[in-house]
Amino acid sequence: MHILLMGPPGAGKGTQAAKLVEEFKIPHISTGDMFRAAVKNQTELGKKAKACMDQGKLVPDDVTIGIVKERLSQDDCQKGFILDGFPRTVEQAKALDKIVAELGLKLTGALNIDVPAKELIERAVGRRICKKCGETYHIRFKVPAKDGICDICGGELYQRADDSEETMKNRLAVYDEQTKPLIKYYKDAGIYKQVDGRQSMDKVYSDVVAVLRG
Ligand code: ADP
Ligand code: ADP
Ligand code: ZN
Repeated sequence: MHILLMGPPGAGKGTQAAKLVEEFKIPHISTGDMFRAAVKNQTELGKKAKACMDQGKLVPDDVTIGIVKERLSQDDCQKGFILDGFPRTVEQAKALDKIVAELGLKLTGALNIDVPAKELIERAVGRRICKKCGETYHIRFKVPAKDGICDICGGELYQRADDSEETMKNRLAVYDEQTKPLIKYYKDAGIYKQVDGRQSMDKVYSDVVAVLRG
């Protein structure tokens, strides 16, 4: 199963990907997570990515495509992958088609988690993430038992620098302009699928599995 998780910032891609990983035992590849790790480790990649991320802009296509190509070429991707947050431009989608063909693979589906823009700001601004294990919480929709502490590992929760209301507005504008056209791209390719992301996390997940199996 080689799937793309599409959807605007804050739609619930990471949340659903974590559930899919558990069930299908295939790698979760999030370009956002890769960039955040690079920023944290102050690598060359991190230096290139940071300014774009802080402004809510996309990291340049050549940089992004390069890291994805390298990752997808690893052996564990042969049996499947969940690509989260990539592609985000038509240029990236075209590059992905080429990479996948070179690896002898075929995309199973491009799944859009559909959430209206007005709900996305609240989702992103209320998002909290565990520093230690990466589990995602929300101050209203997925509240940890102890304020600021991860239920799973006891780690401290933090807020992403780009999850402010202001940066989120830029990210949503970037999504509309550069990523939304991918809906048509994958409809034309015949692999587009959509779920209603306004429902509870569990209901979204059961819909995700149903459309993927459908
Ligand atoms: P993305 O990876 O698409 O940016 P996340 O999975 O990190 O999105 O979700 C963004 C925020 O919204 C998180 O705080 C998460 O807990 C919360 N969230 C995810 N799915 C839902 C849902 N179905 N209903 C309410 N809140 C959700
Ligand atoms: P979200 O889904 O909540 O917007 P991500 O973690 O996917 O967050 O992305 C965070 C940031 O990382 C983006 O705003 C962008 O700067 C950068 N980024 C992630 N994926 C890509 C991509 N495919 N192309 C360009 N930039 C990306
Ligand atoms: Zn944790």
